[in-house]
Amino acid sequence: MTVRDIVLWPDTRLTELCARIAAITPEIETLASDMLETMYDAPGRGLAGPQVGAMQRIFVMDTEWKEGSPAPMVFINPEIETRSAVQSAQSEGCLSIPGVTVEVSRPAEVTLRWTDLAGQETRRVFSGFAAACVQHELDHLNGIVTLDHLTEAARASVEADYAEALA
Ligand code: ZN
Repeated sequence: MTVRDIVLWPDTRLTELCARIAAITPEIETLASDMLETMYDAPGRGLAGPQVGAMQRIFVMDTEWKEGSPAPMVFINPEIETRSAVQSAQSEGCLSIPGVTVEVSRPAEVTLRWTDLAGQETRRVFSGFAAACVQHELDHLNGIVTLDHLTEAARASVEADYAEALA
């Protein structure tokens, strides 16, 4: 497993639509294990393909490891099947936008369908932090970042602070 470089905003790879994965090849298996290693190293709880420059529909997540019980998950070609009407607002950080935390309102519960690394079609209901996390990572596969959820004025202010912090 290799820790890969994390792509940082405003790299345009973070604004692109990612391609479906046609087959789980050894390259995809290596990509998945590298992404998990990169996520743990960062440290973070979720990481999507484009964040390591892999423009494919894959993300990894482990919402438990910081509490001492690692549960790595790999999501290939994920799709949201149902969203709750109830929304929940949470503070979200992003490994590609270091130092920036944004309050994002999203459906509080989602049913996600995906293919796992063994090629199994899987379906699960996520709520709480995990629901926000899977929606955040799925956004990345569609070229969307947390900043895209802000109003124009809020975004301009956050981007100015971010540019200053990078300078
Ligand atoms: Zn992110």
